[in-house]
Amino acid sequence: MNLPKEINKRIKDLFGQNFEELYTHEPSFSESNASKYLKECIESGWVSNSGPWVNKFEKLISERTGAKYVVAMSNGTSALRLSLHVMGVRPNDEVLIPPLSFVATANAISHLGAEPHFIDIEPKALGMCPLALEKRLIEISERNDNILFNKKTGRKISAVMPVHVFGLPSKIVEIKKICEKWNLPLVEDAAEALGSSILNKSTKIHCGCVGDIGVISFNGNKIITTGGGGALLTNNSTIGQLAKHLSTTAKLVHPWEFFHDQVAWNDRLPNINAALGVSQIEQLDNKIHFKRILHHKYQAKFRDLNEVEIINEDKNCESNYWLNTLRLSGKEPEKLRDEILKNAHKSKIYLRPSWILLNQLPMYLNSQRGNLDEATYQSKRLINLPSSPQLIS
Ligand SMILES: *Cc1c(COP(=O)(O)O)cnc(C)c1O
Repeated sequence: MNLPKEINKRIKDLFGQNFEELYTHEPSFSESNASKYLKECIESGWVSNSGPWVNKFEKLISERTGAKYVVAMSNGTSALRLSLHVMGVRPNDEVLIPPLSFVATANAISHLGAEPHFIDIEPKALGMCPLALEKRLIEISERNDNILFNKKTGRKISAVMPVHVFGLPSKIVEIKKICEKWNLPLVEDAAEALGSSILNKSTKIHCGCVGDIGVISFNGNKIITTGGGGALLTNNSTIGQLAKHLSTTAKLVHPWEFFHDQVAWNDRLPNINAALGVSQIEQLDNKIHFKRILHHKYQAKFRDLNEVEIINEDKNCESNYWLNTLRLSGKEPEKLRDEILKNAHKSKIYLRPSWILLNQLPMYLNSQRGNLDEATYQSKRLINLPSSPQLIS
């Protein structure tokens, strides 16, 4: 059997001849209030840093995720950077992250003058492996004045930042236990995981709400979009208030005076983007509904093919299935993967491989790392499938 051809055929079978081009995820505004809300926003004149849509959007995210405090931000990267800063990450510190992620996870650390330190992943949900995390901490850390240091580099280890990859909830409850034991702040990169949750002792917790802070992205390719945008989630009022203050130039509230009490950022989501966001979050549950149906269609369609597996959510987890992902079995998958990609792109099915591991990018080649065998093994065999809900809705 010719696997590249077979994969093409099965994807085409699923969507009939309805689509000329198939992308991994495309935004959609049809049957939404997008135009209405944008028009209202423009006509009000309040399109920039403040206005009622930002508050409305934050309230809706808070209701949907259960996070007590939500700060809408200009993008996910700035929200990650601010989260790390608020949790105490300072220049020359190290932050522990998995290498299988979008580059923003590492860049947010670098933007603060700190350094990423890579921890291996686990194969089920492709997120940071709790066992690898603890093993690495035992291997390299030492405590001095109750501060944790990497004894190889002398740098402070100041936070852990796991990622919920492709919307699959990672082993975040286990990671939180380790962070508590080692007294390390936990920031969740939940950029891809709006609508994903974990069942912990019969309580459903939204991704991003387990750690001290969680971050969501509303970039154009995410499950819902504000054009560009992000949000910082927390249940801690001190953290929430500080994040809001530092993302709005640290200006003290006053009718006319411009008094700023420290150096800070201008990183809030503009009102016009928030108006679009409100129209999008109104459709979130609908999008997730169709993403999940699509996932089950892929499962059924590829079940009899031994060479591939459609990655499923872990037990006690609910994924938004932002990007459905096919995993190749077999020993040397890279050549086959590239043939599958080439063949699909020829038919305008724009499949994507997973990211090149962050530790293999030029700026992170010399970064600290534990053993990364699992991440190396997985990254060669993952292919993201067309996953827009409107393919079947
Ligand atoms: C999209 C994404 C980000 C960054 O979000 P932006 O809004 O694009 O800045 C960070 N981490 C992950 C895992 C992402 O997928």
